[in-house]
Amino acid sequence: MSELRELYQQVILDHNRKPRNFRKLTRPTRVAAGENPLCGDRLSVEIDLEDGVVRDIAFQGSGCAISRASASLMTADLRGKTAAEAESIFERFHQMLTAAEPSDTDALGKLAVFAGVREFPSRVKCATLAWHTARAALAGQAEPVSTE
Ligand code: ZN
Repeated sequence: MSELRELYQQVILDHNRKPRNFRKLTRPTRVAAGENPLCGDRLSVEIDLEDGVVRDIAFQGSGCAISRASASLMTADLRGKTAAEAESIFERFHQMLTAAEPSDTDALGKLAVFAGVREFPSRVKCATLAWHTARAALAGQAEPVSTE
């Protein structure tokens, strides 16, 4: 278990140092901004949604290692998915972080690296900020998202 934990930490640190899809899109069809005032994480998510499919997705902003790594892994995971698939991944991810009992993380693939965050309730918002923001973008929500 400790080896797995170590591996998970390495993945999170790597995505924090070199976030994937940390850029602006040339023609985003959906955008949303989100913030987590408790930690000071702020980010924006841009999505090129075509025929209900996430053709491209990117993020920008600043925040702690967990919020950046989560946004990075999320954008890598959601490309090519439909909005409905994105929603079901979000639900699984959220459940992994908030359920009283550890849930089955097999279906989450790389996103399982955040499983340990559930032991630190104050960091759950860091890990889910990008997801709440992407969800708002997909829903066409204009108001900024706040975790508070
Ligand atoms: Zn944070």
